[in-house]
Amino acid sequence: MLKKTFIGILTVVLMFPLMVVTVNAEQCDSNSLKLRTDFHKHIISPDVGNALRMLGIPLNIMTGEDIINNVPHGSKAIVLSDAYMVSRLADYGLISDEYETVKRSNNYVSVQCAVYSNKLIPYGSINPLKDYAFEEIERCREELNLKGLKMHFANSGVDLKNPEHFNKIRKIFAYASKNKIPLLVHQRNVEEPYGSADAKKLVGLLAQYPELKIQLAHLGGWGGFDHASYEYLQTLVQELKAHPEIKNVYLDLSGVVLTDQANPALAEGVPTPTAGDYQKAAALIRDFGLDKIVFGSDTPLYNSTDDYIEAFSENFPLTKKEMKKIFEQTPDKTLFKGLKFSIGPVEHSRRHCQ
Ligand SMILES: [Zn+2]
Repeated sequence: MLKKTFIGILTVVLMFPLMVVTVNAEQCDSNSLKLRTDFHKHIISPDVGNALRMLGIPLNIMTGEDIINNVPHGSKAIVLSDAYMVSRLADYGLISDEYETVKRSNNYVSVQCAVYSNKLIPYGSINPLKDYAFEEIERCREELNLKGLKMHFANSGVDLKNPEHFNKIRKIFAYASKNKIPLLVHQRNVEEPYGSADAKKLVGLLAQYPELKIQLAHLGGWGGFDHASYEYLQTLVQELKAHPEIKNVYLDLSGVVLTDQANPALAEGVPTPTAGDYQKAAALIRDFGLDKIVFGSDTPLYNSTDDYIEAFSENFPLTKKEMKKIFEQTPDKTLFKGLKFSIGPVEHSRRHCQ
């Protein structure tokens, strides 16, 4: 029981950003690499921020302006709703009206990003195992005009090897494929062992929906790059080669490089990769294809996108040319390619703004 609680809290801590320090974006020096889009940034809503504080995790509530100030000058960002965290906080007794809070969190990302609709791209999120999941996915798409959907399997307790879970995720993939909703999935969960079998399950599912646009967070792991993450990624690359019809799988680099600049509370329990680990990861992403790799900072794991760019550049063994290729990725060239999204102003009814 104790262990279970510990794992639960650890998962919360691991996957949740901690302190947010607003860093004024400085003009990039002309010699440095220019990141066009940060594909993985979190926003913290008042409900979730306050509940996390009660758990002893001092998170600052963030606004759209905070996010704008946290990306390099001129960069865009995909901004992830924190609604997926609500069910776990409800399990801790820190939130009582779960679905209402989920709705408020998804409304929050929508409203905050609407002010900067030419720069910030809002994604909704849910716990896919909940009864309200579908209703909320539809609401995010139809009412809030959110551009994509984030799911976090560790936080939501999802294991694709569990047939019941697999079936629920399959239905969401079917809906996302049909309605052209890009997904961002953090697949690694607390079930042991994690690795090849999980990659095979995912590819088996994607083979049913080969057009689905999907971004896998943290190279399919959960930060750092340990043996399980390596095994997962190696299998994923092999399996996708055997399924050339699956065309739209992207991997993000967020959270992979851990340095002492990363928030220690978040990095706790996640081994810092060695130079050899980074070499292995680099070899696998080259094999996967750098045109399918996107850069994300996972702030506030790091205080700002620039801090993660610095940590990444210093530790991850890619050439400048390779980095440049990855940094030039945009949603329009990758996850949103061929989709008719209006990344323009969104009308919001008053009730969303409360
Ligand atoms: Zn993240």
